[in-house]
Amino acid sequence: MAKFQRRTSSNILLKTALENFYDAAEEMKLDKGLIEVLCRPERAVKVAVPVQMDNGTVKVFDGYRVQHSTACGPSKGGIRFHPCVDLDECEALAMLMTWKCSLAGIPYGGGKGGISVDPNTLSKNERERMTRTFAARISKVIGEWDDIPAPDVATGGQEMVWILDTVSKLHGRFEPAMLTGKPVSYWGSEGRTSATGLGVYTCVKEVLEAGGDTFKDSKIIIQGFGNVGMNNALFLHNSGAKIVGISDITGGYYCENGIDVPAAVRYAQENNKLLEGYDQLGLVKMSNEDILTQECLVLCPCALEGVINENNAKLIKAKYIVEGANGPTTPEADKILDKRGIHIVPDFLANSGGVIGSYFEWAQNLAGYFWTEDEYNQRLIQIMEANFKRVFKYAIAHNTTMRRAAFCVAIERVADNLKLRGFFL
Ligand code: NAD
Repeated sequence: MAKFQRRTSSNILLKTALENFYDAAEEMKLDKGLIEVLCRPERAVKVAVPVQMDNGTVKVFDGYRVQHSTACGPSKGGIRFHPCVDLDECEALAMLMTWKCSLAGIPYGGGKGGISVDPNTLSKNERERMTRTFAARISKVIGEWDDIPAPDVATGGQEMVWILDTVSKLHGRFEPAMLTGKPVSYWGSEGRTSATGLGVYTCVKEVLEAGGDTFKDSKIIIQGFGNVGMNNALFLHNSGAKIVGISDITGGYYCENGIDVPAAVRYAQENNKLLEGYDQLGLVKMSNEDILTQECLVLCPCALEGVINENNAKLIKAKYIVEGANGPTTPEADKILDKRGIHIVPDFLANSGGVIGSYFEWAQNLAGYFWTEDEYNQRLIQIMEANFKRVFKYAIAHNTTMRRAAFCVAIERVADNLKLRGFFL
């Protein structure tokens, strides 16, 4: 392969995204021209977002929207409000969305955007004015067949409705499919709330089957009891798996005979989403660090990034790790776990239920026809099962890890579409 200059960045997220891409692309012997195309975003927009504050002064925030690739379809990705948002971060996250959508087998490329702001310093009215001005200024590049944003850090259904309302008025027609993550009452989808957890659960089921282990009574530990962890725990519990450990920001909760998951869910829902004080017969309270290293067949980190690292990778006793959170395993830990023969289902496969669910919302909005939650869940499970099997097959055929296989499968589909379509526009 001809030599080429690798792009790099001082932004750690972008540097890592580029390195992962180049490493996989080189291993796949991807054409140099395709590498040059795919290591850059197709479009990066920066806008100023002036906001009249409640006290009459004006503040100007920086806003961004990056579209990494539209080789497989319109770009798709979240909009976040956070002080650290900048062009490099959006570029890195947009690239990751390209691979995630490609791997998920849905007809999208990757996008990401946001505003560099501390949203906690804004009143609701200031937040609305900022969101609408940002929406107006990126309105030329988003749309149901162009780029489809969704909620991300510190944004939710309310922001999606403000953006939809603003951009629809500017486009001169109502386009509900231009955004996903809308409230169920306003063009959102039944099933979206538990979609990521359902996807993680499906990957647990698949990896156990692939490894010749039985699902029933398998001991499972889940870190994080929020949207992803709690829903994953419920689906697993309802399918007969034994959840021996759960945790949240208040600590770890371990029970050899199995956590009563519905009771723990009820408890958390009545206690400000926290498990603090939860008890049942045989329950042992322990630290967040210790819960990760207890005896179990499957460990599902569903909370934070970097929790499995070089300090604890040697102590993990699980046979399988299914990553519900984004980036829970550091590259150093990855190597240690690989050497120890522990199988990892990587984040952008395991937690892709959310973006697949967004695709369902988009499809329903375009058709103007809504599905039942049961239809939504059945279709999600079918897609997740097929995606898992595709990556697993690749990993076996190429004698590589599921993580590397997932990257290669994802890049391959984008590259194939680029070859088909060309890239003049
Ligand atoms: P959430 O805020 O609903 O829940 C996070 C949970 O983690 C909470 O229970 C919190 O108490 C717990 N937690 C925080 N610090 C902890 C610690 N030190 N130890 C143990 N638990 C701790 O968030 P979420 O939506 O469930 O997202 C969790 C992860 O999944 C994130 O990495 C997110 O990026 C990723 N993810 C979420 C979705 C989605 O649809 N929600 C989709 C893809 C990826």
